[in-house]
Amino acid sequence: MELTGSMEPRAVLRDRGAARARSGHPWIYRSDIAEAGGEAGDVVPVFDRSGNFLGWGFYNPGSEISLRVAERRDEPVDECWFRTRIERALAYRDSLEIDGDAYRLLHAEADGVPGLVVDRYGEYLVLQVGSAAVDRRLDWIVDTLVELLSPRGILLRGDSAARKREGLDTAVRVLYGEVPESVVVREGPVRYRARPWSGQKTGGFLDQRENRLAAGRYARGRVLDVFSYAGGFALHAARRAETVEAVDASGPALEAARADAELNGRENIAFTRSNAFDLLRGRSDAGEGYDMVILDPPAFARTKRELPRARRAYKEINLRAMKLLNPGGILFSCSCSYHFSRELMEDTLRSAAADAGKTLRVREWRGQARDHPEILTVPETRYLKCAVLECLR
Ligand code: SAH
Repeated sequence: MELTGSMEPRAVLRDRGAARARSGHPWIYRSDIAEAGGEAGDVVPVFDRSGNFLGWGFYNPGSEISLRVAERRDEPVDECWFRTRIERALAYRDSLEIDGDAYRLLHAEADGVPGLVVDRYGEYLVLQVGSAAVDRRLDWIVDTLVELLSPRGILLRGDSAARKREGLDTAVRVLYGEVPESVVVREGPVRYRARPWSGQKTGGFLDQRENRLAAGRYARGRVLDVFSYAGGFALHAARRAETVEAVDASGPALEAARADAELNGRENIAFTRSNAFDLLRGRSDAGEGYDMVILDPPAFARTKRELPRARRAYKEINLRAMKLLNPGGILFSCSCSYHFSRELMEDTLRSAAADAGKTLRVREWRGQARDHPEILTVPETRYLKCAVLECLR
């Protein structure tokens, strides 16, 4: 890309970038831009090399993804444009009739606003802003959210990796009203404390909401929730199970889980601080049996290069978990690594089942909750996978 400082704000794409934009993918990499002018945060018109208009893009020359095509039609990307996109995102959430008050209201590219995430925790909103163009227009966005939703407070979780990549400041700060350290929210029949300031992501793992509800429906007998974080799955499972053991390497996460168990009046959950790999190996070597095992590990493959090692790690935990299943037992196996595709995950589970000598019936393949929608032409918006497998013998 030529950095022609004198050039007017606009971008001309190389053929590969133009083809990508035409396919409906908003991300244009620096190497696919022939020439561009403008500053970080500008919304620039985008053309192919013959001068055909391709859309309006959020521009940031400092980012590897230097352009995010936000609008494919030739209309102004102004305050009204942002408002319309936000209204549509909220209308879609309304249509889902979510039983609870903690979920994602706007899912960036998948709701047509590249780089903006808006999560709801009860009466509070938590934002993540991973693009310079959105960052510059934060006032509009906050005004619109206040007008449409009347929240008590709005927090910016500026400490996301995406902001660092875009060269934006990384402070966590209040944008409106007041935001407390923790907020009690409801997820179906379960209540938990979200931590907007300090919790993972914007305060919790909202993308697993529907899978936690599903796990609650399958649970019975003796349940092991591995990589439990603040006990999301454990709290749901404990409603039907006899006993649940939540396992995580993080002490603070387990403390939060213990407090939430109390909040829900659950006395059948035990909390074990341990490395999941060691614990799973130890339990399977000891010949223990469970009626349900939940595996919700962090992303083992953050990049393509990490895939071979990640695959071994996924296989190891799933193999151990399968060995632990009683006949009729359920394995709830998740992966949030985009690069570890559904096909790769299926293949890994197959190989784990073969080594474990178990026959597993596929009860369901699940994904991220519907408030984290996928866009057909943006494969990266589909990242969470969840296999529900029943041990036949
Ligand atoms: N199931 C949770 C989210 C899990 S996030 C929910 O629905 O809310 C992944 C968790 O794995 C984090 O809490 C992290 O502390 C934990 N973790 C990461 N590596 C681990 C390891 N090797 N052993 C045990 N826990 C680990």
